[in-house]
Amino acid sequence: MARTASGAPGGGDDALRAELPAAPPPRFFDAGHWSSAVIDVWSGSWADPAEIGRRARQRLLPLLRFARAHVPLYRRLHRDLAPAATLQLADLPVLRKSELMADLPASLAERGLSHAAIDAFLADPARIGTPFAGHYAVWTSSGSTGVPGIFVHDGDALAVYDALELLRFRGLSVAPLPVGPFMAGERYAMVAAIDGHFAGIANVERLRRNFPLLAPLMRPFSVLQPLPDLVEQLNRYRPTLLATYPTVAELLAEEQRAGRLRLSLKELWCGGECLNAATRAQATQAFGCRVLEAYGASEFLSIAWACRHDRLHVNADWVVLEGVDARGRPVPPGEPSHTTLLTNLANRVQPLIRYEIGDSITVLPDRCPCGSPMPSIKVQGRSDDVLSIAGRDGAAVKLMPLALATVLEDDALVNDFQLLQTGQRRLLLRLGLAERARADAACAALRAYLQRLDLAGVRVEIDPSPPHREPGSGKLRRVVRTVRGETPA
Ligand SMILES: [Zn+2]
Repeated sequence: MARTASGAPGGGDDALRAELPAAPPPRFFDAGHWSSAVIDVWSGSWADPAEIGRRARQRLLPLLRFARAHVPLYRRLHRDLAPAATLQLADLPVLRKSELMADLPASLAERGLSHAAIDAFLADPARIGTPFAGHYAVWTSSGSTGVPGIFVHDGDALAVYDALELLRFRGLSVAPLPVGPFMAGERYAMVAAIDGHFAGIANVERLRRNFPLLAPLMRPFSVLQPLPDLVEQLNRYRPTLLATYPTVAELLAEEQRAGRLRLSLKELWCGGECLNAATRAQATQAFGCRVLEAYGASEFLSIAWACRHDRLHVNADWVVLEGVDARGRPVPPGEPSHTTLLTNLANRVQPLIRYEIGDSITVLPDRCPCGSPMPSIKVQGRSDDVLSIAGRDGAAVKLMPLALATVLEDDALVNDFQLLQTGQRRLLLRLGLAERARADAACAALRAYLQRLDLAGVRVEIDPSPPHREPGSGKLRRVVRTVRGETPA
């Protein structure tokens, strides 16, 4: 790591403080900034790889200077480093979620935003999709790596995410933006955990508020309800575009094949978990439509999108991903990383520079036949199981891993867990050491959820051992079906 010889606090960047006044934050929605982002993303889509690298570098240096001048966390983390202009990204320290969350206000460029005020905002479901402190989106992530994260995004970053979603993920042309694509007879459904300030649902609610004409054409559906209710609601709404998690898409594909779900989809969008080839094939066959895959996070909404060759292309002009090994050294293309560092080049209010997001990625060494200038990756994320429990009438009731995780996280405040289905009607819960005290609350939350699904007879027990990580990768699968044999369908 490059350090100043003198060790002077802030190195040469202190002098920049005066040159970088904290400008008023960009508005939550600003048509001018939105149009600029669209034009930038559109032109980037046609650039060559060298130009994409140049754009990223051009954005990194001002971000670094800004973070050092206005964000206490980086003033501290970078205090012994050389001036920003002399540094490479790899010279900078890694930022971990625990460090970010230890002093949330110190990670923000705007003073006066307290952790308590952000918590109060996040605790109010009526405020999902509304601006926090007049300007910002605040999203919380699931605690799949132990602690839930809180991420604050400014209007400029949101404009970039919107442009990346519309132009690259959906492959739309500039002309009909912003409302055109939704006005041409499309109806959009998102099936997700919708009662918290999670990135996906908060973003849908933000668009509904920014573009009131869209509101009736975009609807969220809760993944926590019994599957037959969800199927009935979707049948009534008749969406043409449906966004959800791959494990939910798998269940909905089964419902469609069985004739209970009757959707005519134009596109099915999958994200939030890894989409494997089998699920993609099942969904494509059941719905007879294109299945589009996206890779995003609460730290950066639109990290990558899948092209027609099913390769995930990184939006490398706006986000930098570094795959590193267990000792933080770069991993060469073609090899899976131990973890991944993300640098968000679009967001100033809470700069994320070399932030560890935890996923393992493999950068594919060859250029994709689709011709995109963006590098392509494979993501080895969590792969949880759908549980299949015998209902009172003997028929299988499917439990979605996302729904089970949401119940434990939101209702029992448990994040470090592993839930196993060890029998046809038996669940075993393992908790991390720090969360053992919440065992009763966790069992009660699960039982209440099972009761809502008419599965009151299912046994829920605590396993005294901690969650078991995968040998080798060290990854944690949080919802796992270990029972042998099939539950009767
Ligand atoms: Zn491609």
